[in-house]
Amino acid sequence: MVQRKYNFCAGPAALPEPVLEQAQAELLDWQGRGLSVMEMSHRSKEFIAIAEKAEADLRELLAVPDDYAVLFVQGGATAQFSAVPLNLLRGSAKADYLNTGQWSKKAIAEARRFCDVNVVASAENTNFSSIPEPSEWQTDNNAAYLHYTPNETIGGVEFHWLPRVSTPLVADMSSTILSRPIDVSQFGLIYAGAQKNIGPAGLTLVIAKRELLGNAHSLTPSTLNYQTIDDGKSMLNTPPTFAWYLAGLVFEWLKEGGGLEAQAHRNHQKATSLYGFIDGSDFYGNPVEPQSRSWMNVPFTLADAALDKTFLTEAEENDLLNLAGHRSVGGMRASLYNAVSMEAVEALMSFMRDFEQRHG
Ligand code: PMP
Repeated sequence: MVQRKYNFCAGPAALPEPVLEQAQAELLDWQGRGLSVMEMSHRSKEFIAIAEKAEADLRELLAVPDDYAVLFVQGGATAQFSAVPLNLLRGSAKADYLNTGQWSKKAIAEARRFCDVNVVASAENTNFSSIPEPSEWQTDNNAAYLHYTPNETIGGVEFHWLPRVSTPLVADMSSTILSRPIDVSQFGLIYAGAQKNIGPAGLTLVIAKRELLGNAHSLTPSTLNYQTIDDGKSMLNTPPTFAWYLAGLVFEWLKEGGGLEAQAHRNHQKATSLYGFIDGSDFYGNPVEPQSRSWMNVPFTLADAALDKTFLTEAEENDLLNLAGHRSVGGMRASLYNAVSMEAVEALMSFMRDFEQRHG
């Protein structure tokens, strides 16, 4: 019997068990072809069918309009911090960036290599516990786009609304994509590393309005040039074939589970339960303003930080893994991505209740 534990890792994160089981069943022999997906040529008709099915399912799940390219690339979301300005500045020297946390800051630092970054608003003065009011944003008329991070994985701050701006909206959706339906047509470009809600690490998704492509900076490496990648059907060079295949299995699993509306309902329930529990206790706390709390990443602190280590050790003994906060901020963090069940959240709350009784 395989003994799986509850995994609250922020990424690489828990994958749906049925997906892992199917991958296991097909590991040595994919659909009677006598070889593993890992051993197939990316140019073979078998792999091309896998790749095309994954793209079609993703397009269906997110209702991606036809005038948007869907790219399967490498380099993580971090490579996109450079790819975005290289492709989307289109001759402009300026771009707008919102600063709502550690991942926004990294995107800003990287963009500064390529352009003059206008920080439209920053939540740094509230220690990233809130989202600056749109009425306070100072956008630049000459900006080529506005970049933001809809869900800050470390701070646990999430936009539950869409910024309205006149420039193309660019979103780092690494830790929120596929957690709920989104209106893709409102975005110029969306990117996301796979290792949270999509599949294993090594794959990155880009969804881009085609009319914005084709004007990349002349020094853009071809592996970062969206137009070149789109022309090559994301197979300019050898793609991460196994990660692409697993992402395809995750998309099938999401469709079978009722699509993104159903997933949003489950995610909302999980997050509401955990925040409700934290708010109802004097022992645990979450610093984020209630209307901006993330459904996916729930950071929390204990009343006495000296108990942090004991909490983590006992959690592991109770089969609750990866609850340490990001190394830059400490404390705890429970990531509740799509593959984390309500049962896992209940096991966590039950442990937290018990821990509080013994140490509170
Ligand atoms: N952006 C966000 C919001 C993230 O959560 C992460 C990873 N945790 C990154 C960017 C960086 O992603 P990668 O490691 O895939 O480059």
